[in-house]
Amino acid sequence: MKTISIVIPVYNEEKGFKKFYSEMLEPELKKLSYNYEVILVDDGSRDKTLEIVQGMAESDSHIKVVAFSRNFGKEVALTAGIREAIGDAIMTIDADGQQPPKLIPEFIEKWEQGGEIVIGVRGKYEKHGLVAKIGSKFFYKILRGMGVKDTVPGSTDFRLIDRAVADEYNELTEHGRITRGLMDWMGFKKVYIDYIYGNRLAGKPSYNFGKLFGLAIDSFISLSTTPLVIFGWIGVFITVASFILGVFVGIEEFILGDPIGLKWTGTTCVSIFISFLIGLVLISQAITALYISHIHAEAQGRPLYIIDRKNSRNLKNGKAKKA
Ligand code: UDP
Ligand code: MG
Repeated sequence: MKTISIVIPVYNEEKGFKKFYSEMLEPELKKLSYNYEVILVDDGSRDKTLEIVQGMAESDSHIKVVAFSRNFGKEVALTAGIREAIGDAIMTIDADGQQPPKLIPEFIEKWEQGGEIVIGVRGKYEKHGLVAKIGSKFFYKILRGMGVKDTVPGSTDFRLIDRAVADEYNELTEHGRITRGLMDWMGFKKVYIDYIYGNRLAGKPSYNFGKLFGLAIDSFISLSTTPLVIFGWIGVFITVASFILGVFVGIEEFILGDPIGLKWTGTTCVSIFISFLIGLVLISQAITALYISHIHAEAQGRPLYIIDRKNSRNLKNGKAKKA
């Protein structure tokens, strides 16, 4: 019999998680005609989440707990869970009930029909706040503009991947990672399922605008080097334009004696150009710095996460693999 692994990142979910597991998720898993395992990655929760999930693992051998030594973020938690999974297919799902476990059989069915990455897509049936709508529209527009064409708008982490995809995914070593972006980049046969993003059972979402914005910037940087190219071209354009303007002013003012009556003063021209160029240099420096910071993180070669072994339960790996 095939095994399905369910990977769930949990961070400060003490209020709703048990309910989510026993009322929404477990009934679905029990109905399946597959073996299953559930990997709970505690992402350094500061509340009672860890104790709760440990308790669950002690009374149910389907459940494994990966306990991080601190908060490493959802993307890394997903990665750790996928590395720990032994299933023939691996399903990732949020801990807060916003992604409906009822659809798991549908994901599995699409997988059995040959889909290697089955992706939950939100948006089609939803009403969004204006800011979120515009924000996500821009995000995908920019991504597309940068040449990243593999991401369908509304794709989420609610997805199922085949063992083959997981094996390849586990080979990826980068640190600034967006799980879904990397998977979209990997190729394989993709199938999409529309769903409605529900309300949280309890607790607060931990991704605020600032975090999401940071995530968007990370996606741009890790998936594309177009920003560097764009600024290269802007630099070229400005240099050429200022050269032409400089020649024009030189001839109009100093050789022909200002026949059009523009009354250029040298100081005006110089100050405009200097401030313009300084701005340009600053922007391109900032962008270069972002890339360098990514290179820096890769070069450090630190493990992607650290597992707190004594707090973890039922794990297969003796030690965390290096990233
Ligand atoms: N999460 C996590 N680490 C974090 C933040 C969130 O593992 O640093 C988990 C969280 O417990 C939940 C999922 O990631 O299972 C999605 O988080 P949240 O509901 O805050 O995000 P949103 O619903 O806004 O995408
Ligand atoms: Mg949520």
